[in-house]
Amino acid sequence: MVYIIGAGVAGLSLARALGRAGVAWCILEKEAEIGLYASGKNAGIIRSYETDPVIRHYAELTLAAYRQDEPGYDECGLIIKPWEIDYNLAGTPQRRFSHGRDSGFYLAQNGCVSAQGVLARLLREASAFGQVRFGFETQLNLHDGHLVSLQGATPSEIIALAPADQVVVANGEGAIQHAAALGRSLGLIAHRRNLYEYANVTGYTGPVEWNEETSCYFRADGDKLVATAGEQIPQASGQDTEPSGVNPSHLAALSREYPLLAERHLTGWRTCLRVMPADNRPYCGADAFLNNLWWFAGLGGRGMSLAPALAEELARQLTSKSGADAYSSALAPARAEVI
Ligand SMILES: Cc1cc2nc3c(=O)[nH]c(=O)nc-3n(C[C@H](O)[C@H](O)[C@H](O)COP(=O)(O)OP(=O)(O)OC[C@H]3O[C@@H](n4cnc5c(N)ncnc54)[C@H](O)[C@@H]3O)c2cc1C
Repeated sequence: MVYIIGAGVAGLSLARALGRAGVAWCILEKEAEIGLYASGKNAGIIRSYETDPVIRHYAELTLAAYRQDEPGYDECGLIIKPWEIDYNLAGTPQRRFSHGRDSGFYLAQNGCVSAQGVLARLLREASAFGQVRFGFETQLNLHDGHLVSLQGATPSEIIALAPADQVVVANGEGAIQHAAALGRSLGLIAHRRNLYEYANVTGYTGPVEWNEETSCYFRADGDKLVATAGEQIPQASGQDTEPSGVNPSHLAALSREYPLLAERHLTGWRTCLRVMPADNRPYCGADAFLNNLWWFAGLGGRGMSLAPALAEELARQLTSKSGADAYSSALAPARAEVI
């Protein structure tokens, strides 16, 4: 049995990948439903455009998977104004931003998904081989240097681990607490990020637009435009993420970059945390010290664009079907530890 802590896009993608390999899984989710954190509150932009070759590899695999499997994937394209021009953009058509002021590149093969739609489908496809146990806020119990059980909030909620059981930490910001409790040096930092929703008064259906320099982007979502802007504000995990309200500087930046996003059309906003390691590469692989513990955490601002392919890789490692290759070894949690 593989126990997965967390039912976000990471945990659910892994459950589906394990199910495809015929492996039984059980997700332990602290909330009563899926999608209450980053995985249900993101902009759903799927981009394969990355400078880091390791990230690009998994982003391209995920993009291919969405094109094949995800009925809600909208290949509407991405217009990007890159920050650093070292992105393999040779041959990519350059054109003007349709709403921003500067010229950008057009990446026809990128697009977007509905975050909630992806989560629901993952759960549906995974469910033949396991189930989500809701309301189980998991702590790890060690004895004599071994991970022996999983503890819920009350003393009676305890899962004793059999020798062949494996445990995967896939709980977004919660991974910060698990790393701290175990004394791991993963250096995960949570950043607050806001998602704004505007009425799509013009009926815009064009490409996603992204100005990497100002960290602003938006896309159409039916009768809404969803947009994020923002600085990276480090924030302790578990801290209330809704206290500060709408950030006026975000709205000003968005309407400056994309005049379509007028403040008077703002209909809602949400905040949650993106969790990333210092090197901005997720942790996806075996714990450096415990032989029945694995990490699938630190997906940063790209979890929707990476999780499905990373999950397939992690499932391969968990089922010992293949060793790590050059890409997956770059994501090993051991890279952060002094061993
Ligand atoms: C505003 C915003 C916009 C974004 N836009 C995009 C985008 O356009 N494209 C993209 O690719 N990515 C985007 N991202 C990033 C993406 O949303 C994340 O990388 C991804 O959702 C992280 O998924 P996760 O499963 O690791 O974590 P989460 O979604 O946080 O899921 C973790 C789950 O674990 C549960 N949990 C926590 N602790 C415990 C515990 N102790 N026991 C049991 N369960 C626990 C939580 O309840 C939660 O359900 C965005 C993020 C934000 C915040």
